[in-house]
Amino acid sequence: MLDACSTAGSAKANPFDTARRQLDAAAEIIGLDAEVLELLRWPMREMHVTIPVKMDDGSVRAFHGFRVQYNDARGPNKGGIRFHPDETIDTVRALAAWMTWKTAVLDIPLGGAKGGVICNPKAMSPGELERLSRSYIRQAGRLLGLTKDVPAPDVYTNPQIMAWMADEYSFMQGHNDFGVITGKPLALGGSAGRGDATARGGIICIREAARMLGIDLLGKPAAINGYGNAGAFAHKLAVELLGMKVVAVSDSKGGIINPDGLEHTALTEYKKRTGSVAGFPGSTPITDAELLELDVTVLIPAALEDEISCRNARNIRARIVAELANGPTAPEADKVLQERGIYLIADLLCNAGGVTVSYFEMVQNASGWYWEEEAVHRQLEKKMTAAIRTVHQTAGQYGVDNRTAAMIVAIRRVAEAMKLRGWV
Ligand code: GLU
Repeated sequence: MLDACSTAGSAKANPFDTARRQLDAAAEIIGLDAEVLELLRWPMREMHVTIPVKMDDGSVRAFHGFRVQYNDARGPNKGGIRFHPDETIDTVRALAAWMTWKTAVLDIPLGGAKGGVICNPKAMSPGELERLSRSYIRQAGRLLGLTKDVPAPDVYTNPQIMAWMADEYSFMQGHNDFGVITGKPLALGGSAGRGDATARGGIICIREAARMLGIDLLGKPAAINGYGNAGAFAHKLAVELLGMKVVAVSDSKGGIINPDGLEHTALTEYKKRTGSVAGFPGSTPITDAELLELDVTVLIPAALEDEISCRNARNIRARIVAELANGPTAPEADKVLQERGIYLIADLLCNAGGVTVSYFEMVQNASGWYWEEEAVHRQLEKKMTAAIRTVHQTAGQYGVDNRTAAMIVAIRRVAEAMKLRGWV
């Protein structure tokens, strides 16, 4: 007999296929209208751009990039811009679809979009990165705007890049228009609490899940795959807010383990200095595969797509898997995790803290009234706890896994908006 794994090949999944399979699964459970489903299976609009950039050596290179506006039935398109050598249009489409479900599951009045540029920012100088960022906006800027589409940071982009982009866009408009982008530095209309928002939202979800499952997290081990912005802040907050012990972490250059727990401040300083967590004093090396299969209470995938496949899902021993990355789990692996009783906090819920605080940033930019960090934390807390409780309840109501439950909540809301607007 074939099991969930037998039909899956070893090749990495196409993320847009994954996104569509997740949509189809939820649509089938709730018997979604065929016309609504057909619309939800496609991005509403997408732009492919060629981006000329003058390099430091005087040559001009043509980079290629995208902006995909997946669905704006519920409000302006919203989603980050990723700079990555392996970027593809299908990755950006998937990420744009996930943004649409993410804003809907959190019930914030925004749609979903994503941008991407095929480049290797680690091999570019700050000047080249600035010219690339500005050139991208000169090409894609006509699609953007406070009421149209609002980008933000994603993998390998940061507040400085958002500042260059907001500046370029402002010159194109002839006036300061910083609200076009979120995740900006505080001095340019950024929001307090945006820096750690993705991780904080995920940590709130882990705390709520543990409460619902009756798991005591104090002193328990956690492992984090991926040590960028979200992963590093998740380390800090898992220790500070949950009292957990983070025993293993990894980044693109290697992984480390220390069963007594890794110290966050020393580790982030070390990574800043050396460019990786690998070789951190007092730790021993560990491969990604080993990290994912550690006997920990919480496993946090915080890197890229397709980390948990059907094969390694069988060996995962965590009680809770909290997806801070977008799309880290293949659809077949979802089934395996569910069969094994592992509680999944799906990406569209788990990492939605980032876009939620981006929404708060939009509100602050529009009103010109800036909130204290404590007010941001309070509002984020409210949004995240309401969302995870709704998802948990929906999973019970339909007898489905948590990802399908989150998708059901999201697509119901998007479908309702499309119907009200007369699109279907
Ligand atoms: N890039 C983040 C995400 O994937 C944040 C998007 C935003 O703030 O618009 O959710």
